[in-house]
Amino acid sequence: MTVAGMTVFEALESNVRGYCRSWPTVFDTASGAWLRDEHGREYLDFFAGAGALNYGHNNPILKQALLDYITGDGITHGLDMSTVAKRRLLETLRDRVFGPRCLDYKVQFPGPTGANAVEAALKLARKVTGRQQILNFTNAFHGMSLGALSVTGSAAKRAGAGVPLAHVTPMPYDGYLGEPDELRWMRRALDDPSSGLDKPAAVIVETVQGEGGVNVARVDWLRQLAELCSARGILLIVDDVQMGCGRTGPFFSFETAGIRPDIVTLSKSIGGYGLPMALVLFAPELDQWAPGEHNGTFRGNNAAFVTARIALEHYWSDAALEQATLVKGARIARELTELAATVPGAQVRGRGLVQALAFDDPSLTGKVCQAAFDRGLLVETSGATGQVVKLMPPLTITDAEIDHGLELLTAAVRAVCH
Ligand code: PMP
Repeated sequence: MTVAGMTVFEALESNVRGYCRSWPTVFDTASGAWLRDEHGREYLDFFAGAGALNYGHNNPILKQALLDYITGDGITHGLDMSTVAKRRLLETLRDRVFGPRCLDYKVQFPGPTGANAVEAALKLARKVTGRQQILNFTNAFHGMSLGALSVTGSAAKRAGAGVPLAHVTPMPYDGYLGEPDELRWMRRALDDPSSGLDKPAAVIVETVQGEGGVNVARVDWLRQLAELCSARGILLIVDDVQMGCGRTGPFFSFETAGIRPDIVTLSKSIGGYGLPMALVLFAPELDQWAPGEHNGTFRGNNAAFVTARIALEHYWSDAALEQATLVKGARIARELTELAATVPGAQVRGRGLVQALAFDDPSLTGKVCQAAFDRGLLVETSGATGQVVKLMPPLTITDAEIDHGLELLTAAVRAVCH
């Protein structure tokens, strides 16, 4: 339906809309790794809701649990009241997630977005330490609200704030300077009383920078960062909003490094089904919130609590999903390496099922994604200049679907680059 030659999306929806421009069709239904548009055309999804659909679209196990819950008139909106759905989720987090990993965390239910979890984490770190400064990293992405934006790198996104984004100092992320010891400046600045750097409340880090270009921090760098923080009484916040819930293999992305962050943010796939939900996890001694000090109307999305619990029970009772993710990721990395060899300057990077093809020439990536879309594959760019094509399929994708997607991507790269 068009209004004066425009679709209702163009006529009514704000100019702020984004993904609909990359993928100019009208989607209607979806299952597993596939979306269908209103004309019945199928698209293989190598984007997975920006990491919110690790278990695929309309996952049948989660869908059945959700249908049963709704049919039984289970609480849908619960503020932060105690509910049966929340109790069962907390018990499952304790028994399936924290227990096996010997993690001792309190659980906060913030508003249901990644940005709100980050806001809560920053507020808590400042409150507990009484310090204002936060250290973040180059190319970081933590969300669009003012606090989350203040620790985000992108100048274009920061400019949207319209006010100074203060009390934050960026540090070089692993690989940024190309030096063997990328933490040298940070260590020096923290330890030199004349460096001009105020002692921070916390450091906030992504183990793999998803929006920043799939920059993968080395395990050793993460360990050193954790040691550096703990030796100086600085809280370590790992933002696992995109890389958590198994994206890189283990449930928490930081497990690979064997570190224990003081505060962890989760959102996107924690709700399992793509329903909005977020968590902030922190060491019990940090639980210095006054009741209601960080509140919000939609902290109790109980339908998401149900699908979150079933996802944990079904996918995280053993190591099968983690192992399959690592195997599938390695397979994609191998294929991408062959593809990269055909494009001058192209590189492959990633961990688990977040893999990327980085191009020397950033003008190519948008064209590759467009050519992929034309062939029925949803894949997006990331990075400071959009120089990276990021592959993030559902973790539940089959090998045959991976092969199909890689064939489509290869055809797209050939069409654009050769
Ligand atoms: N942190 C990270 C690491 C993210 O990738 C994102 C979203 N891309 C966010 C925070 C913000 O999450 P949301 O969009 O749900 O606010």
